[in-house]
Amino acid sequence: MKMERCNNGHLYNKKRYNACPYCDEAALEANTGSEGMSSKPFTASNTNENGVKTLAYWDEEQGFDPVVGWMVCIEGAEQGKDYKIRHERNFIGRSEEMHIHIEGDKTISRRNHGVISYNPKERNFTFIPGPEITSIIYINDEAIYAPRELSAYDIIEMGKSKFIFIPLCGQHFEWQI
Ligand SMILES: [Zn+2]
Repeated sequence: MKMERCNNGHLYNKKRYNACPYCDEAALEANTGSEGMSSKPFTASNTNENGVKTLAYWDEEQGFDPVVGWMVCIEGAEQGKDYKIRHERNFIGRSEEMHIHIEGDKTISRRNHGVISYNPKERNFTFIPGPEITSIIYINDEAIYAPRELSAYDIIEMGKSKFIFIPLCGQHFEWQI
């Protein structure tokens, strides 16, 4: 696997990301508020023996990165479309390099409008609003400014679109590796 090093010294997989995903991650972590959240980190990244962070719980080399849930567009430009949620951080935006790539809604940021994170240790999902977006994200009609735990069938409103959240993993099911 060809690794690329960004200006801040992070190593990342150039085949998968056009820009350093860790720099974005740092920006998102800076946005982490205390509201409604425990002080625990998301345990999103592991550090291997070389001190290099790996982004995914199961990385690509193991060849298995199973779906853990879905977001389905129920209102807006991509109504009817589903988006797979994988383990740990799923960046949302219009850009093709985003894990959850929403093309049709121009009111959604190209990069990092938000993140849906699945924590396989605690088996819960969290929505983290992007730090630089100008619009407000609503979950079940409530404006959110800080990370917020998601429950089945929550309605996430971003830009001019609405999405329903459907978990697969959680208390009832988890992939056995
Ligand atoms: Zn970086």
